[in-house]
Amino acid sequence: MITVIKNVSVYKPEPIGVKDVLLMGDKIAAIEDKIDINLNGVVDVKEIDCTGKILVPGFIDCHVHILGGGGEGGFATRTPESTLTGFTTAGVTTVVGTLGTDGVGRDMSALVAKARGLEEEGITTYVYTGSYRLPLRTLTGEIMKDIMFIDKVIGIGEVAISDHRSSQPTFEEFIRAAADARVAGMLSGKAGIVNIHVGDGTRKLEMLFRAVKETEIPVTQFLPTHINRNPELFEEGIRYAKEGGYIDFTASEDPDFWEEQDGEVRFSKGLRRILDEGISLDNFTISSDGQGSLPVFNEKKEFIGLGVGKSTSLLVSIKDCVFNGDIPLEIALRAVTCNPARILKLKGKGRVEKHFDADLCLMDEKTLDIDTVIAKGRIMVENKKAVVKGTFE
Ligand code: ZN
Repeated sequence: MITVIKNVSVYKPEPIGVKDVLLMGDKIAAIEDKIDINLNGVVDVKEIDCTGKILVPGFIDCHVHILGGGGEGGFATRTPESTLTGFTTAGVTTVVGTLGTDGVGRDMSALVAKARGLEEEGITTYVYTGSYRLPLRTLTGEIMKDIMFIDKVIGIGEVAISDHRSSQPTFEEFIRAAADARVAGMLSGKAGIVNIHVGDGTRKLEMLFRAVKETEIPVTQFLPTHINRNPELFEEGIRYAKEGGYIDFTASEDPDFWEEQDGEVRFSKGLRRILDEGISLDNFTISSDGQGSLPVFNEKKEFIGLGVGKSTSLLVSIKDCVFNGDIPLEIALRAVTCNPARILKLKGKGRVEKHFDADLCLMDEKTLDIDTVIAKGRIMVENKKAVVKGTFE
């Protein structure tokens, strides 16, 4: 299939002005000032006029419980699996799945199967092997084999530290797992990233600072998440990022509420701090923690039940940066595009660039609402409606 996106303001994420973008099959074939194609009807060419619209890379959501998560209030609180349109309507075209607290009731076979299912439905998927717990329970029995021989596995996690739900790993256990992830990543050309769930505990990032200080494993091997869960942890995150570490924010659907209720550091404020501190623009990401269980409150702030995290929180956070945080779109976008693609070594992802995958979102210039989403060259969402649905949707 050949598609020409006409007269669109392109953010690579860096803005490069109004262009025409040619898609052939699942790739971006050209980005030029003007592209006119006439194949005399031999092959269908779809033209989309995008005057007044912005073209950005499809979002990468790098921490999602695709198989469902939760369960911490008993079996009835296990959350449901992700759906295809839950991602595509949120602008997400690449997702990294992870288990979570429960690596027993759910396991790696089921996680990889779910990732394959979503891939067949049309988006790109990867997974971390393991769960909160160390030693990790993997698919093949060894961390290194999982990373080296299962295409979908790009690292380990989410390994929990500084949390009452973690397996309270010793430093030796922790660093041995990280070492396996690193070496397997090197041997297979993958990131071998260690995705870390950081809890509310007082030890915060102590394990990571120790790893960097006492071993040869570079700081860039780790991607701690939930770094904005409270102000004290966020301060540690800033200190860690200043040493060259990567930090992952967890997005909120309602940043006002969670800031007030829970002391969460909203992405727009955290990113402003990163800019003010002169921290590298390459070192931050944001993920939704999608399908994780979340308490739901009514307007009077009374608890009314459990809900699940959603990928739509990514766009909420980006809009909050642009409209309330005075942060340029091209900087905020880095968190869901080029940064996770580079940190996780996802080839062909995260940029609007010739030869890259045709994973794209079209946004309204003024509202930043997403109206069209293309995954691997296929239109998944058009006029804000999902035109491709998951098998059971
Ligand atoms: Zn977590």
